[in-house]
Amino acid sequence: MMVNEIKSLYLEEAIQAVREMGGKDFQGKQLFQWLHQKQVDSYSVMTNLPGAVRKRLEEECHLLILQPVETQISALDGTRKYLFAMPDGQMVESVWMHYRHGDSVCISSQAGCRMGCRFCASTIGGLVRNLTAQEMLEQVYAVGRAVGKSVSHVVVMGTGEPLDNYENLLRFIRILNHEQGMRMSQRNITVSTCGIVPKIYELAREKLQITLALSLHGATDEKRQELMPIAKKYPLSEVMEACDFYFKNTGRRITYEYSLIRGVNDTQEDAQQLANLLRHRNCHVNLIPVNPVKERGFCQSEQKIVDKFKNKLEKYGINVTIRREMGRDIDGACGQLRRRHMDTDAVQ
Ligand code: SAH
Repeated sequence: MMVNEIKSLYLEEAIQAVREMGGKDFQGKQLFQWLHQKQVDSYSVMTNLPGAVRKRLEEECHLLILQPVETQISALDGTRKYLFAMPDGQMVESVWMHYRHGDSVCISSQAGCRMGCRFCASTIGGLVRNLTAQEMLEQVYAVGRAVGKSVSHVVVMGTGEPLDNYENLLRFIRILNHEQGMRMSQRNITVSTCGIVPKIYELAREKLQITLALSLHGATDEKRQELMPIAKKYPLSEVMEACDFYFKNTGRRITYEYSLIRGVNDTQEDAQQLANLLRHRNCHVNLIPVNPVKERGFCQSEQKIVDKFKNKLEKYGINVTIRREMGRDIDGACGQLRRRHMDTDAVQ
């Protein structure tokens, strides 16, 4: 771990770094608290650290503080979308959503994505790079600062495939959850994956209490493969086995995400196949009306088709919600704000 990525350090590593700068162990702990609990924006306010340590930190460890370069606020529901520029110029978007149960931030885990899902805007330019743990943490902190409220829930559902950036993701979760940091409950953290099977097993063995959301979007191999290239690598049977293992190992119910696309995966037969797949599983289904992406040409299912789809699943006792569309009016689908910026940058 590079010391100059100071917010990515675990507590023990921060202690070690401060020790090497001539400070005491308890001062390493104070540094960690300044970074993750108080979330201050400069080393100069860390007045309980020795001047010499602060000077070394200032000289050697760039303190990552993200400022939104663009903010969009939904007139419909108050959802806010933020675009952040990383130090190397990569643009990353995060979304703040207000729910009855708390305030939630959706963060990106990569700049771009290499999974190639056909309905998704984030993957159009491919993967540029992984985000570091501190770039993920700072999205949560920066949105909290911008909104002026504490963030109670985090969903890793923005741009990128989190399990394709596994080590940084784990660091992010553990630091977010750390008792000397924000102390976010693991139960309030959701990680969404397109289904990278070996990584689901690995995650299950970490025995975290986070929620795993699996992007299904089709209930047969044929349907999934049409929409998601990753389905060609890992057949549905293997994905489901991995999810069952996750549930068994952690006791955490899986959320299956299913984006409804008009005429593609929204028929009663599709609903029946999904019901057959999930009826004996203790899980939750989140139906997402597909967000039209201009480059993709998919349309949302009609409301009555969505309702019929939901009813069919419920007939089999499956727990279903229809995801409320937040921020419809502000480049709703993940990756759209970032993409629009890339487009405008390209013409400039
Ligand atoms: N790579 C991860 C997380 C990012 S996407 C994953 O695949 O799960 C978060 C969710 O939004 C996924 O279920 C994804 O399939 C879905 N999604 C992406 N683009 C969408 C769109 N245009 N409309 C509806 N859902 C979309």
